[in-house]
Amino acid sequence: MSMLIAIDGPAASGKGTLARRLARHFNVPHLDTGLLYRATAAGLLQQGVRLDDVERAVAVARGLALTDFDDDQLRGREMGEAASIVAAIPEVRAALIDAQRRFASRPEGAIIDGRDIGTVICPDAPVKIFVTASPETRAQRRALELAGRGEKVDFAALLADISKRDERDSSRSSAPLKVAPDAITLDTTALGIEEAFAAALQIVSGRAAR
Ligand code: C5P
Repeated sequence: MSMLIAIDGPAASGKGTLARRLARHFNVPHLDTGLLYRATAAGLLQQGVRLDDVERAVAVARGLALTDFDDDQLRGREMGEAASIVAAIPEVRAALIDAQRRFASRPEGAIIDGRDIGTVICPDAPVKIFVTASPETRAQRRALELAGRGEKVDFAALLADISKRDERDSSRSSAPLKVAPDAITLDTTALGIEEAFAAALQIVSGRAAR
């Protein structure tokens, strides 16, 4: 049986770490869809084009391959902010739907994480997990992650970033961040990585047994 797991949640909720762990555990391919929006933003910045230039943004999004992302450059703090600006453009989202759905329908299964996977991209996914944590915990985790990569960090600025991004992602009209009605929420505020992983495995096996 092929496995499809949709994982959504706000910025720095730990969904990426969880998705990668699950993908390794079940040996299925993983797609981090945040990278699509980050790569679109990076492409526009590289061309010196405004982030709200719809035509150019769509052209960049259409030209993306789902592999070959230069992670380190894309995962920085500024690119997250820029990504959330291009991600609010409905035409950009539309340009990225097919590639994500093709990935989701791979015969070997898929684990896909983002903001709208369980609601828009894969509404029929048998397993949907909404990963969340308090804003302070998320800012702390992001601070550790960025410090580990040598980026200078200021906790208050990170917390402000996260609140702003949550607000933009939740209030946009096209595919806003929200919990799918059939998703199970996993609050990782008080959980370490291993505990969160164990909880996610339990959700997956609970769903598979239905
Ligand atoms: O998950 P990540 O922080 O890399 O996502 C960067 C931005 O891309 C998010 O803040 C959000 O605006 C956008 N995004 C989205 N839909 C997704 C994944 C990411 O709108 N499925």
